[in-house]
Amino acid sequence: MSLQNPTFIPGPTNLPEVLRKACDMPTIDHRSPLFGEILRPARTGVRAVLKSACAEVFVFPSTGTGGWETALTNTLQAGDTVLAARNGMFSHRWIDMCKRHGLRVDVVETPWGEGIPAARFEEILTVDTSHRIRAVLATHNETATGVRSDIAAVRRAMDAAGHPAMLFVDGVSSIGSMDFRFDDWGVDVAVAGSQKGFMLPAGLAILGVSPKAMMAAQGENLPRTYFDLRDMQRAYANDAYPYTPLVGLLNGLNLSCKMLLDEGLETVFARHARIADGVRAAVTEWDMPLCAASRTLQSDTVSAVRTPAGYDATQIVQRAATTYGVAFGTGLGELAGKVFRIGHLGSLTEVMMLSGLATVEMCMVDLGLNIRLGSGVAAAQEFYRYQPTTIAREV
Ligand code: PLP
Repeated sequence: MSLQNPTFIPGPTNLPEVLRKACDMPTIDHRSPLFGEILRPARTGVRAVLKSACAEVFVFPSTGTGGWETALTNTLQAGDTVLAARNGMFSHRWIDMCKRHGLRVDVVETPWGEGIPAARFEEILTVDTSHRIRAVLATHNETATGVRSDIAAVRRAMDAAGHPAMLFVDGVSSIGSMDFRFDDWGVDVAVAGSQKGFMLPAGLAILGVSPKAMMAAQGENLPRTYFDLRDMQRAYANDAYPYTPLVGLLNGLNLSCKMLLDEGLETVFARHARIADGVRAAVTEWDMPLCAASRTLQSDTVSAVRTPAGYDATQIVQRAATTYGVAFGTGLGELAGKVFRIGHLGSLTEVMMLSGLATVEMCMVDLGLNIRLGSGVAAAQEFYRYQPTTIAREV
């Protein structure tokens, strides 16, 4: 018998059986009308998940990183300047990608654990009267630190400065799990991946692109071939791809959007918030701080838990994997060894989460940390039982 524990890494997330089956489909001719029956509703579904009426949705065989590259190469030219805050490993990697593409980056160094400093962005944009800055890059949810940034505040900063830069948002670990408002926030490119809120295997870079960014994409920008939005747009006019699409994953995406919309986006977000609150109750009971510097910054999809100084947090993750067969996230970059990360997004219930908290507790006790078995679990249980959900769902 093969037994499978849920995973608690912040993506790839647990794969619901119905989505696994939707991805596992017989070969169809991707140039036949059958394919359009999959592609069209999948793109429409993503647009609804993005809360957008204006976004053109693109889905590339790739991952979130390919989504970053799509955003940059289609809209910017070598030597262009972008503005970004570095507050964790993923914002760092996006900045690094910009530099490797010959872009200049105005980097606002931000402590890991803090969110995007919108007020500082406003100052920088206000003095940029020549509009040298072409795009503002914002990582909505820093998966490395468990920090959620306020994208509405970034948009307000841009508007207050009267700056015409485009707004690119990395929603890889937020879209489909935490509130994301493409239109309301005036987002120009939103980037997601299939393996987090969409509850699918990795393999798709999912993008929403505004009319303004589509205009920018028509120009002679950075070199692009595979990720050229113009080729994809032309192919989409015929419900096709410029190359062989990942039909099974697109079929999964179609169903995954339907599942999110059937559950109701606000219900999905509330479920994530409630599960996250239970995790935070447990972490408080363990007397371990979260990396996120304040309550409003705490992510509802991932918690980065700081272990006592001098203690190697990676041991906990290794112990969980080797002894109990459960996956948690390690610390990344400057947080390596200092935090372990609990992913709580995607196909997850409160009861599944309790098993993850129980596992972490066993690991910490096994490894000699001063934790009482059941203490964090009890705190989460108290929270979950007083916040009842009507659970009749397959998540
Ligand atoms: N951005 C964020 C916030 C992420 O969490 C990740 C991956 O975890 C990425 C980008 C990179 O995405 P991928 O690994 O799918 O290329």
